Amino acid sequence: MPELPEVETVRAGLAPALTNATVTAIDVLDARSFKRHIGGVEDFIATMVGAKILAVVRRGKFLWMPLELPAGRNPGHKLAMVGHLGMSGQMLLRTPGFTEDKLTRVVIHAISEDGEKVEMRFIDQRLFGSLAIDDLVPTPDGLPGGFSNGLGVSSDGESTWWRNLIPASAAHIMRDPLDEDFDEKFVIAKLKKKNSGIKRVLLDQQTLSGIGNIYADEALWRSQLHYDQPAASLTGPKAKELLQHVREILAKAVTEGGTSFDEQYKNVNGESGYFAVSLNAYGMTGIPCKRCGTQIKRENWMNRGSHFCPKCQKLKG
Ligand SMILES: [Zn+2]
Repeated sequence: MPELPEVETVRAGLAPALTNATVTAIDVLDARSFKRHIGGVEDFIATMVGAKILAVVRRGKFLWMPLELPAGRNPGHKLAMVGHLGMSGQMLLRTPGFTEDKLTRVVIHAISEDGEKVEMRFIDQRLFGSLAIDDLVPTPDGLPGGFSNGLGVSSDGESTWWRNLIPASAAHIMRDPLDEDFDEKFVIAKLKKKNSGIKRVLLDQQTLSGIGNIYADEALWRSQLHYDQPAASLTGPKAKELLQHVREILAKAVTEGGTSFDEQYKNVNGESGYFAVSLNAYGMTGIPCKRCGTQIKRENWMNRGSHFCPKCQKLKG
């Protein structure tokens, strides 16, 4: 399942080609990819063709592209195309004529700002992902909706009306720890009020976003915390340390996704991040803990698994 670093790799791969690109046509190979678009396939195509993509923006694992629509289309609405990657979704950037990608569900044809023809292929094996158009609404804190790496934000009169907006369907998602407007004090105060296990809280997108199973296990290992330790039992400094570890791990994974970018460009598949990062806990069942030598253990947890060192990540009463 793509996590924040993988989604950021996808975003960074798409942004240079798609920022200020104009959509020229859409091929629908499987209409099920529009299950989250209320107006259905026809409406999606009618809205998108002729629209200009102003940026590729991300908050946590949520990706969207604000649209500038031709005059007179959808008056009074500020819209964005939202890409849900789900469990297996990929957004690949291709040039026309590039070998067909298996399980392609939708192809968005566009002309880039430089006049090059490009294709964004939406591939989704298990069909949990989708493409949809959503209304942009003001962010609850009035700050930028997400990360767009400055692309599309320029001083030479480019349109940036979308910056402090967020798709309505993502407005409830809290900022991720790499977001420069991430409010650490607010998140720590929230942790203090939660009696559920810390891992569950880390994965709750309404507390903070962008952390999945892999990076949660890794951050907990570094912080020597048991996954079921009640969040409220963490001291302020311990919570701060945990968030710092989360930030370091995510940043490292993003950077490593970025360094393998040339390869990614051929196959922007959102999977390289965690393969590039050396793991200490996740998937390491039976391997000696790098800190104390005790074998890493896996326990079933919320239909998934939690990987931890039973010696240095003890549940504290
Ligand atoms: Zn250990």
